[in-house]
Amino acid sequence: MQHNKNGNIFIISAASGTGKTTLVSRLLKNNSDLRVSISHTTRQPREGEQHGVHYHFVPKEEFESLIAQKAFLEHANVFGNYYGTSIAAVNQLSEQGFDVILEIDVQGAEQVRRALPESVSIFILPPSFDILAGRLKSRASDSEEVIATRLAEARHEIEQAFDFDYIVVNEDLDAAEADLLHIIKSGRLKKSAQQGFLTNLLENS
Ligand code: 5GP
Repeated sequence: MQHNKNGNIFIISAASGTGKTTLVSRLLKNNSDLRVSISHTTRQPREGEQHGVHYHFVPKEEFESLIAQKAFLEHANVFGNYYGTSIAAVNQLSEQGFDVILEIDVQGAEQVRRALPESVSIFILPPSFDILAGRLKSRASDSEEVIATRLAEARHEIEQAFDFDYIVVNEDLDAAEADLLHIIKSGRLKKSAQQGFLTNLLENS
């Protein structure tokens, strides 16, 4: 359905190890009217991560200067590093009509909900804590210490799921991807998203 309107903003959060990044890449691959906002971060790139693709990797001073310039829709300190969503990047994508995914943590989600009440927030849950622990340990890229910190944080993050509009349980990737797509598609069918089409239809009647 064509609509002459800015795209919707979808916040997707989860405790790390829940499969959020995998799910988001699948959604992007299969839906051309969907884009993810590339965040800024002060953390070091992991192996295989590219500047401008996975993140804009910037030094702390640059990040702090962007905060001072009010360049971020939200920003947070996650595991000792800054992460932030640039207002300009989100606006540009949304104005082009793309639905925009913000793959951000719970602190950022709260800020975006306040700044953009029309945004839709989705929390992805693991089927159980045992499964989450297993998934975190099988990741090669993080040190034992990082894994332990992330597990300890997981429960706290999951407690914030009560504040989200939708909850998707990632037991099976295909099913979770389909659930996410249903949420995104229903956003496109909202009256607010179809107002332009409706007005146009009536004006040309
Ligand atoms: P990672 O370092 O594993 O890529 O991400 C760590 C956490 O930071 C994840 O929960 C991720 O969703 C979150 N994150 C990534 N980008 C942003 C951002 O721009 N803002 C906020 N608040 N969190 C982010």
